[in-house]
Amino acid sequence: KLEHINEGVQIENLDFEYLPGKPILKNVNINVKKGQMVALVGPTGSGKTTVMNLMNRFYDVNSGSIKFDGKDIREFDLDSLRSNVGIVLQESTLFDGTIADNIKFGKPNATQEEIETVAKTTHIHEFIESLPEKYETHVSDDESVFSVGQKQQISIARTILTNPELLILDEATSNVDTVTEQQIQWAMEAAIAGRTSFVIAHRLKTILNADKIIVLKDGEVIEEGNHHEL
Ligand code: ATP
Repeated sequence: KLEHINEGVQIENLDFEYLPGKPILKNVNINVKKGQMVALVGPTGSGKTTVMNLMNRFYDVNSGSIKFDGKDIREFDLDSLRSNVGIVLQESTLFDGTIADNIKFGKPNATQEEIETVAKTTHIHEFIESLPEKYETHVSDDESVFSVGQKQQISIARTILTNPELLILDEATSNVDTVTEQQIQWAMEAAIAGRTSFVIAHRLKTILNADKIIVLKDGEVIEEGNHHEL
């Protein structure tokens, strides 16, 4: 069982292809210490999402390895692995149910107080409180009181509630108003703080905050360092 990631994440000599003969990741090496944030950057199709898919074992690597604390992730049982990895997708979705249900999705026994705490942390609490039915407001993905940006705030709240050891976050690129953008930024920073994180970064601010920046191109790491070094 995976309890804590104390020594970080080691990606070693990673090769991966979705289709035989079409290599997507080529000899990728990334070493992240516990609590550090890595920004993955690179053009469309460079393999950023693929790295994220492999860390959660949506696919298995072809050769090389991904290790948490030096232990190959293929050695963990899938449920315990996934319960320790929190993923925030770029296009966050809501399902049919109340706002509270949507936030406590990964932790169904969460108390109202816990739900409100993460909503405050992700700066969505005030908005929820302004709705007539507050946390009991019914939402669904296509008929929602939330904007795209607010959905991401909900999604980050949902993820923080499960307190994952490792956070993988695909930063939203959609145009949101400046207030929402600032709120998402705060929500992200709260989620990342003190947690080993991989962020597919689209904003300069996020890249500047990274402990390590990994630049991918055509499936290869072409540059690595912090923003002082690059
Ligand atoms: P973006 O910034 O557009 O999200 P990315 O850097 O995340 O791009 P990936 O989504 O990892 O890139 O894609 C890397 C390559 O793998 C692309 O050439 C893509 O077409 C290919 N690819 C992604 N998913 C699959 C799949 N399920 N089957 C086959 N090829 C895939």
